Amino acid sequence: MNDITVDVLIIGAGPSGCVAAAYLNNNGISCKVVEKSTFPRFVIGESLLPRCMDHFEETGLLDCLMEQGFEIKAGARFLKNDIVCNFDFGKKHTPGWDYTWQVPRAHFDHTLAKEIQKKGVDLSFGQEVTDVVFDEKGHSTTSVKSENGTEYTIKAKFIIDSSGYGRVLPRLLDLDKPSSLDANSAIFTHVKETKRPEGVEGTLITFDVVRDDVWLWVIPFSNGVTSIGFVGPTEFIESYEGTNTEKLKEMLKISDYYYNRLKDQDFLFDPYIIKNYSKAVKQLYGKGYALTGNSAEFLDPVFSSGVTFATESGLKSAKLITKELKGETVDWEEEYTGYIMRGVDVFRTYVKEWYTGNLQKIFFHRPENPVIKEQICAVLAGYVWDESNPFVKNHNRLVKTVAKVIDMENEQKK
Ligand code: FAD
Repeated sequence: MNDITVDVLIIGAGPSGCVAAAYLNNNGISCKVVEKSTFPRFVIGESLLPRCMDHFEETGLLDCLMEQGFEIKAGARFLKNDIVCNFDFGKKHTPGWDYTWQVPRAHFDHTLAKEIQKKGVDLSFGQEVTDVVFDEKGHSTTSVKSENGTEYTIKAKFIIDSSGYGRVLPRLLDLDKPSSLDANSAIFTHVKETKRPEGVEGTLITFDVVRDDVWLWVIPFSNGVTSIGFVGPTEFIESYEGTNTEKLKEMLKISDYYYNRLKDQDFLFDPYIIKNYSKAVKQLYGKGYALTGNSAEFLDPVFSSGVTFATESGLKSAKLITKELKGETVDWEEEYTGYIMRGVDVFRTYVKEWYTGNLQKIFFHRPENPVIKEQICAVLAGYVWDESNPFVKNHNRLVKTVAKVIDMENEQKK
C-alpha cells in the first residue's frame, strides 16, 4: 500500500472519532480515520446524555441516528432501598435537549461510521496504528498495520487520538497518570428479555443502588435486548467466584428490585469484566496532537458521561485544528485543556460525591427540593459548562454543603 499524506489523522472510529471527522470534512479539511476493528463491534457505554445530541446536530450526524428507532431516554431513575429518585430531562435548569437515547453501541457506532463514509470521509476498518513519530514541528509519521498484514505510513499535520481504551498516544508517549478516583470495576452483559414488563417500566433506564458503593445498571434497548451490569470496588467484583456468568448470576441476587425479572434470563454473551476502568493523562494535547474521549480521561459510568465527553472533546479538538490550519492562533491550554477540564472537573466532583454518599443523600432525601433537583438534573444531562447553574459553578462545595444540611435535619428529627 502507498504511503498517505493528510492534514488530520484520526485514530479510532468510535463516537469521538466520527464526530471529529464529520466536523473536519464539513469544513473542507482533509482527514483520514483508521479503525483497528471491523464494525459493527461491541463496546460498552450505552446510556447517552442529552448534551451529545448538540454535537450530532452540529456535525450533521443527527438525522441518521434519528432513523434508527433507538429507545428514548428522557431521564434516569435511581433506586435505593424503597426510595425512587426520577430525573426528567424536561425539568432541568439549563435549556437544551430534553431527551437522548439508550443504544446498543455496535449498531450506534456503525451508523455513525457509515454516515461519515457516506459524507466522503476516508475511513478504513481493520487498520491498527502501531507507532507514531513526531518531528520538531509536530508533524507525524504513523505506522499502520492492516488486517491482511500490509504495513504503511500516514503523514499528518495533526493527529486526533480517539482510540478509546486503545490509548494509542498515551501509551506511546508515556502520558498515562493514575486516576484520582477510587479503583472500581464493572461486570456486564446483555439479555434478551422474555419477562420485560409492559409500558414505561420496561423501557426505563435504572441505576439500582444495592450498597452505598455498589450499583446495578439496567438499560433496555428498543430491540428487546437489555444491558445489565454491576459496578463497585474492584475487591467487591473480585470477591465473587466462578465463571463471569456465574459471578453475575450470583450478584443479581443482591438486587431486590430486579432479581425476579432477570434471574432466569439467558446472557447473550459471557459477561465482560473491566477492572479499574478510570483513566487519566498528564496532558490532553501536545505539538501536533490532541487526545479525545476515553483516550484522554474516563471517570466512571455512574452518570453516563463517557460518550458525551468523547463527542465534546472530539468536536472541540476538530474545531481548534481547523482554526489553526486556517492560519489563526489557538491557545490550546485554555481553549482545549481549560475548556474540557472544566466539564470533567464538574463530573469528577459528582462521581466522588456519589461514592462518598453525599450525592446519594441529596437524591434520596424526602421531600425533594424542586430547585436543587432541576439544577442537578442539568448536570446529569451533560450541561456542565453552564455557569448560571450553581451546581456547576460551585460544584466543589455545594454538594457537600447540601448533604451537610440534610445530615443536620436528620439529626434534629431524632
Ligand atoms: P471508543 O468508542 O472506545 O472507540 C475507540 C475506537 O478506537 C475503537 O473502535 C477501537 O477499536 C479503536 N482503536 C483502538 N486502538 C486502536 C489502534 N491502535 N488503531 C486504530 N484504532 C484503534 N459512557 C456513556 O456515555 N454511557 C454509559 O452508560 C457508559 N457506561 C460505561 C460502562 C463501563 C463499565 C465503562 C468502562 C465505560 C462506560 N462508558 C459509558 C464510557 C464509554 O465506554 C466511553 O466513554 C466511550 O465509548 C468513549 O468513546 P470513544 O470514541 O472515545 O472510544
